[in-house]
Amino acid sequence: MAESGGRYCPLCGRAAGLMDRFCASCGYNLSVPPVREGRVETDQVRVPPPPSDSQRSGPGVWSRVKVLFGGCIVLAIFILIFLFVVVPFLSGLLGGSGQ
Ligand SMILES: [Zn+2]
Repeated sequence: MAESGGRYCPLCGRAAGLMDRFCASCGYNLSVPPVREGRVETDQVRVPPPPSDSQRSGPGVWSRVKVLFGGCIVLAIFILIFLFVVVPFLSGLLGGSGQ
């Protein structure tokens, strides 16, 4: 067995360096040693077996995309609130109230 000293992500199986703290593919925390027990947390989550083709991209990529998407939505909501609150306030200050 040729062990080059490299580690593998227990989540997606991607090869990771010894200095890597997180998986470059799915962002799994590699500093935590993989727990080898009979029952894994995946026993609770009923995930259908992914097709071998989409396993290359990894499910972690999609979760990261979802996080990014949700963050963008939250950011957009904050920007909208900012626009609807601050802009009328500033326009009221600059334009003067009434005549
Ligand atoms: Zn990974």
